Amino acid sequence: MRKKTIQRGKRPELMWGLGLNEQLKRQVEMGVGPGFYVRNFPLGSLPWSRDMSGREKPSAAWIPWSVWSDMPESRKEEYRSQESTQRILIQDKDDEQIEMDQVLSEGFLTVVRTPLTRPKVQDAVFRAKEVTSMYSDIYRMTEEIMLERELLSRKTDQLMFLNKILASATESLDPASILLNAKETLSLVVPIKMIHAAFWTQQPESEVTDVEIFLNGTMPPETESRWVEEIMAAANNMGSGSVNGFQIIHAESARRQEFSLTPDDGRLAIMPLTAGQQTFGCLMLLCEPDYRLGKDQVETFRSAVTHLGLALRNALMFKEVKLRADKDALTRIYNRHSFEERLVYEIKRRRRYNHDLSLLMFDLDHFKLVNDTYGHKAGDMVLRKVGEILTDTFRTTDLAARYGGEEFVVLLPHTSEEDAWKLAERVREAIQSCDFHFDGQDFKVTASIGVASIEAGALTKDDDLILKADKALYEAKNNGRNKVVISKPPIMQAAML
Ligand code: GH3
Ligand code: MG
Ligand code: MG
Repeated sequence: MRKKTIQRGKRPELMWGLGLNEQLKRQVEMGVGPGFYVRNFPLGSLPWSRDMSGREKPSAAWIPWSVWSDMPESRKEEYRSQESTQRILIQDKDDEQIEMDQVLSEGFLTVVRTPLTRPKVQDAVFRAKEVTSMYSDIYRMTEEIMLERELLSRKTDQLMFLNKILASATESLDPASILLNAKETLSLVVPIKMIHAAFWTQQPESEVTDVEIFLNGTMPPETESRWVEEIMAAANNMGSGSVNGFQIIHAESARRQEFSLTPDDGRLAIMPLTAGQQTFGCLMLLCEPDYRLGKDQVETFRSAVTHLGLALRNALMFKEVKLRADKDALTRIYNRHSFEERLVYEIKRRRRYNHDLSLLMFDLDHFKLVNDTYGHKAGDMVLRKVGEILTDTFRTTDLAARYGGEEFVVLLPHTSEEDAWKLAERVREAIQSCDFHFDGQDFKVTASIGVASIEAGALTKDDDLILKADKALYEAKNNGRNKVVISKPPIMQAAML
């Protein structure tokens, strides 16, 4: 059975005739052929602009000169403003001669003289079509250019954003302030309520990792543990090896109301931070729940996070290198350089606030003998142990350092001479009671300690604190070692003689 199909032939194209008489209308219709439909408006009812703004616009309008020249200027202007319609002027052989200049300046595409033979009409239609298609080409090209401009302006915005991220991320070498800046800048793309971060470092020669958690501001303990749980879960998923322990660092936020937000108070985005093949941390962003990113925004955001990751890694490396430079490699306590810097600072502070300041100076007794008897490695082991004892005995505000070889110093701000002496005694006893084992041999080590103090209100010159402690230490050595000696003021020393 043959299927009945409806031929959807091309609809004939609309053309207008304005006040054409029967003869002209027929000639135009004959000339344009079956692909066109000519709608002729009689002289008394020529179309207005509302007819022109109808859905189907005529591709051309045929207008006799007699009709055109009788029209008021405003009406002519209306026709001229209809850009998609090409106007074709019909000149009767009885009409006055019209120059081409005038034809064009009146806004006509061309002029056709009567009689309207088929070739003349077809030629005019052909030219009208050509101009129309040129117009549409130009229109399309303009559209493309506009689109291109829009894309370019979006690219510029993205570049400016990345530039901002980079500038603010490299402004500081402190990871906490980089994160605070990042929150501000990333919020230009996504409204961010909170930003936290975790960095993990694998311990040398071990499978376990240490995680450093940066929290954006302080918060109630139960909220904080929710975040820590969340961050540690992410670290476990992304980090290599099992987590050994973690340390929390708070970056103070300026906006206090954010402090009690939990991971459930928005959409949580966890972005890994990578350098090369290695994932060394992650960012945890709490965003507005209903916010969605466009495809190119996601790309921009990703590269922003990559840049941020690199800046953070630099900052962390800087921190590590600085720490390494401040500390002694063998004992892991501060080195002489750090001690001297801190001593200058503490002496200045003492001058200003006039509080107590004490210094202990240690020297291990007959240490050369330890090396000679049990070997250099045994000596190193003892030095490491003394480092541990010092770390365990003193507060974080005190500064214990390896001064050189087997000599140590401890700077004690806000500590009186008497308290300093008690602390020195405690360390001396701790060292004395240590049982060392090396290579199947047991041995003991003792230390001599000199104590020097500047008491509150004292007018003594404080720069000779080291000298005084050293003198006291020398005395301890001379008086039989394994002793704590307090430096005496010069008057007392004179009286003792
Ligand atoms: P005294 O009781 O008079 O202080 O005697 P001593 O033997 O401790 O004094 P001396 O200053 O003569 O010797 C210090 C020794 O400390 C000499 C040196 O080999 C040793 N020493 C210095 N630094 C290190 C180190 O890093 N490791 C080891 N194993 N020994 C060190
Ligand atoms: Mg010595
Ligand atoms: Mg010694």
